[in-house]
Parts: sequence; C-alpha cells; structure tokens
Amino acid sequence: MTAKLIKGTEIREQILAEIKEEVEKIKAEHGVVPGLVTILVGENPASVSYVTAKIKTAKSLGFKEVQDNQPDDISEEALLELIDKYNNDDTIHGILVQLPLPKHIDEKKVLNAIDPDKDVDGFHPVNVGRLMIGGKEVKFPPCTPAGIQEMIVRAGVETEGAEVVVVGRSNIVGKPIAVMMMQKGPGANATVTVVHTRTKDLASHCKRADILIVAAGVPGLVKPEWIKPGACVIDVGVNRVGEKISEKTGKKVAILRGDVDFDAAKEIAGWITPVPGGVGPMTITMLMKNTLNSLKYKLGLA
Ligand code: NAD
Repeated sequence: MTAKLIKGTEIREQILAEIKEEVEKIKAEHGVVPGLVTILVGENPASVSYVTAKIKTAKSLGFKEVQDNQPDDISEEALLELIDKYNNDDTIHGILVQLPLPKHIDEKKVLNAIDPDKDVDGFHPVNVGRLMIGGKEVKFPPCTPAGIQEMIVRAGVETEGAEVVVVGRSNIVGKPIAVMMMQKGPGANATVTVVHTRTKDLASHCKRADILIVAAGVPGLVKPEWIKPGACVIDVGVNRVGEKISEKTGKKVAILRGDVDFDAAKEIAGWITPVPGGVGPMTITMLMKNTLNSLKYKLGLA
C-alpha cells in the first residue's frame, strides 16, 4: 500500500486563500482589518527567520502588521510596558512575543501579561483552560495542534471513535493535541492515549493507533512495524540530521527528518505527512487564522 500524502504546503494555500477572502469581506463591510504585532527581542537568527515568515504571511493577507524589534538588553519592565501598550491598542488583535527571550527576562511573566483575548499563540493559562473546557469556550487553540487537527479533517480521516495515540507530552504539541482530539465535536470524539519517555511499551500502543501523532523530536523513532496498516500518521518531528547544498539556491541548508521512518512507513500507512512540507507550514497558517478570529470575536462575527 502507498499512503496518501497530507501536504501542509497545499492545505496552507487553501486556508490562506479562505482567510484572505474573509479579510477583504470584513474590510469592505466593517472598515477594519486584523492587526498583528510581532515582538522580537534580540537577533537570534532562527527567531528572526520565524518572525520574518510570520510578517510576510500577515502582509500577504492584508493584515495590519506591526513589527516591533527590541534590543536584547531591554528590561523586563520595559517589555511588560510594551505589551500593556498593545493590550490597549484597539487596532491590534493579536500579540506575538517570539520565544526564546533573553535569560534576564521571565518568559512566563511576559506571556501571562498578554491580554488572553489577544493571545493568538494560545499559550496564556486562560486559553489553556479554555482549550481544556472545549466547545465554544475555545478562542485560540495553540497553532501547531490546531494545524494538525485541520490536516486530519481536510484529509477526510474519520476521527469519531478513532484510536488516537500521541507520542510526546509537551505543552505546545502533545498535551494540547491530545485534549483537542478527545473533545466532543467534529474532527474529534476520539479515544486518546498519550505516550512518552516513561511509557513501558511504546510499540504496543502505537500499533493500536488509527491516527498516530508523533511529536517526540527523535529522528526515526517510530518504526514501520509499529504502524497499523491504513493508519493516518502525522509526523510533527523536525530534526536536523545534517547539511546539504540546496539545488535551488546553491546555499547550505539543513537536512530535515521526521520522527517517523517515512520511506518505510508510507508503504503501510493510509495517510502520512512528509517532513518537511507536512505539519511545518501549518503553524504560521493557524496563527493567521487565530488573528482573524480575534477580530471576528470583537466584531461579534464568531
Ligand atoms: P519536547 O522536547 O518539548 O517534547 C518531546 C516529548 O516527546 C516529550 O514529552 C517526551 O516525553 C517525548 N519523547 C521524547 N523522546 C521520546 C522517546 N524516545 N519515546 C517516547 N517519548 C519520547 O518537543 P516539542 O516541542 O513537543 O516538539 C516535538 C517535535 O516536534 C520536535 O522535533 C519539534 O521540532 C517539532 N515541532 C514542530 C513544529 C512544527 O512543525 N510546526 C512545531 C512544534 C514542534
């Protein structure tokens, strides 16, 4: 069997086109556009590249985009004041603080200072609580898990009563996707098992999964014989395993591998996400969706 590929690059384009259309409609009818501020402290190259991609996407959708770069010696107090400024700015609907922050700043304190109704990353404890309650309480599901669920739904994979096994229990992927898949409602209603480093027999759990979501950060952790024939395999892992020269640009680029042995797994699974080009492109996409939704909540449209 050869699995169907669930391509994040294609699903991203569909969702971005839907967002763009909604932005134009809201602009025409209400005279406002979603506003996103990205706060970048310092010049960490990976953070710069993430923020640049977010800004580019937001602009392409017609959002108001404020790029607020701060030096890495900014005081915690000054950063908190900045957040307070954007909390009170009516033209800003989403506040994103790019992590990691310099060591002298308490990350938790900064994230908790963001107005939960502008917390489009979904990391504020209020939004974590809303996610746990589920249903209409959920305002901003965290972006990577939201992207995973969207991929499963758009691929037409049945989640109702499905055995979902999540490998990994991080706050940004494993725990939230487990909660989301077990909630009552469409694209969920699954029976969920979470496995992690202390699990006794990883293989036996994975073998049961109709939907296997792997977010461990260990290249090739999931072996093909752990996959149930016909299962949907979502590989969240992004592992740098070496470098190569890009054919397109002639520059050195990282060789990326997922947590699943893709070549062998695709012969057994029913659906599978590639790495790169799978879950990766979905995270920024869902950040845009959360920012649009923030404006829609404010206007009473959602
Ligand atoms: P993390 O390190 O915070 O958590 C990893 C989890 O996997 C832990 O809960 C740990 O218990 C579990 N784990 C690790 N090794 C294991 C093993 N051998 N057996 C069983 N469980 C094991 O990582 P994270 O932030 O959740 O990220 C996981 C992976 O997903 C990473 O490769 C990361 O780069 C990737 N990621 C991708 C995206 C994206 O594509 N947009 C977003 C977030 C994370």
